[in-house]
Amino acid sequence: MSKGPVVAIDGPAGAGKSTVARAVAERLGCLYLDSGAMYRAVALAALRSGTGLDEPAGLEALAARADVTLRPGQGSVSRVLLGGEDVTEAVRTPEVEEAVPRVAGVPGVRAVLIAAQRRLAEAGGVVMDGRDIGRVVLPHADCKVYLTADLGVRVRRRYLQLRQQGRPADLEEVGRDLARRDSWDHAQMARAPDAVEIDTTDLDVEQTVARILALCPGGARRAGN
Ligand code: C5P
Repeated sequence: MSKGPVVAIDGPAGAGKSTVARAVAERLGCLYLDSGAMYRAVALAALRSGTGLDEPAGLEALAARADVTLRPGQGSVSRVLLGGEDVTEAVRTPEVEEAVPRVAGVPGVRAVLIAAQRRLAEAGGVVMDGRDIGRVVLPHADCKVYLTADLGVRVRRRYLQLRQQGRPADLEEVGRDLARRDSWDHAQMARAPDAVEIDTTDLDVEQTVARILALCPGGARRAGN
């Protein structure tokens, strides 16, 4: 029996996916699954093991034996495990951030992680965010959303997020990093034809969450909670 809806939230870096997806999961009483954290964990494993980012076969073998999984909790909790080690914080470093699009560009790595993501979502009651969730990972999701925002707004949000985490950030550098990730991630980023696009440039988190809940089965009555 299904535990609730399957919601897919895709979009580029800095569009507000993770904040919004967490809040949607909480309102729906679903699990939040951060697919990007799994790509980050493989990138971390590659950096630790010295596997070259230009060695697709090595990266694929690494992904297959790395044992990457998410430990979903209710609502906003999503921890990422690498061989049983909790690497949730370790995958947020600038080194991993720089390496991850190259790792995620390897088809064999994607195949391993997509299979794992499908297993995590198979019982239902999940909100998963990423780049290819509605189109590739969970094409039968009950609700698919593609979040966008102007580049300038995405840069500013990312900058503020880094500052809030107490990490040094320079607006211009954040802009360059985001543009670089956009171009690397381009291949993975296609909107599912049945996804509803929401431009969050002029929306705050609450407004975005309300729009998504209105699209989800059983979500409308939770929009004001
Ligand atoms: O979502 P987040 O920014 O943490 O994702 C980190 C990276 O993982 C992205 O820049 C992208 O390269 C990759 N990714 C992906 N497919 C997904 C989720 C993330 O290729 N479904």
